[in-house]
Amino acid sequence: TTFDEAGFPEYIMSEIRAMGFEAPSPIQCQSWPMALSGRDVVAIAETGSGKTISFALPAMVHINAQPLLSPGDGPIVLILAPTRELAVQIQAECTKFGKSSRIRNTAVYGGAPKGAQIRDLQRGCEIVVATPGRLIDMIESGKTNLKRVTYLVMDEADRMLDMGFEPQIRKIVSQIRPDRQTLLFSATWPKDVQRLAMDFLDDFFQVNI
Ligand code: AMP
Repeated sequence: TTFDEAGFPEYIMSEIRAMGFEAPSPIQCQSWPMALSGRDVVAIAETGSGKTISFALPAMVHINAQPLLSPGDGPIVLILAPTRELAVQIQAECTKFGKSSRIRNTAVYGGAPKGAQIRDLQRGCEIVVATPGRLIDMIESGKTNLKRVTYLVMDEADRMLDMGFEPQIRKIVSQIRPDRQTLLFSATWPKDVQRLAMDFLDDFFQVNI
């Protein structure tokens, strides 16, 4: 399979060419067409599989099909991650691939000062990458809202549940419109992750790597 078969617009293709990748990884081959067609996707894959751009590149296309953000709007794409390290890593990939379409992003995570995170949120960001606890804090203090979210990613879902984030995840997702597109990535597929998928995804396509 080649990148050309994925169905990306030219501005994404030029970013991919600039990265110098030889071919899409198996998870990318399977998840890109589904994600681009608007389907919900579950992908069981480990770090190093190329999972980040599996959800991040279709997210860019999704954003570019939406009306521009107005002042006071929260993100269009929300990516939940278990740790600060992962959130920062995902944000870096979003920055690389979002440049040409001027898609703005920020990472919101605990254990760091809130000032810069609040500034970013209030300037407006199409993509917010967040750990669950800090995101709830930002919502409850009125710094952002989830009214514009139409593309939700839960990355390393198994790890988020292991870390006890299930109540926070449920609280967050309950504030997002039900007709959103949802993608769930997890290294493993235990019962509790399956339950999350059943509760929050709709007729999902499952990718197993
Ligand atoms: P991830 O699994 O998303 O953490 O990605 C692991 C690393 O693989 C990152 O440095 C990506 O930039 C890189 N990568 C992603 N897709 C490809 C690809 N198709 N070919 C080569 N490297 C890739």
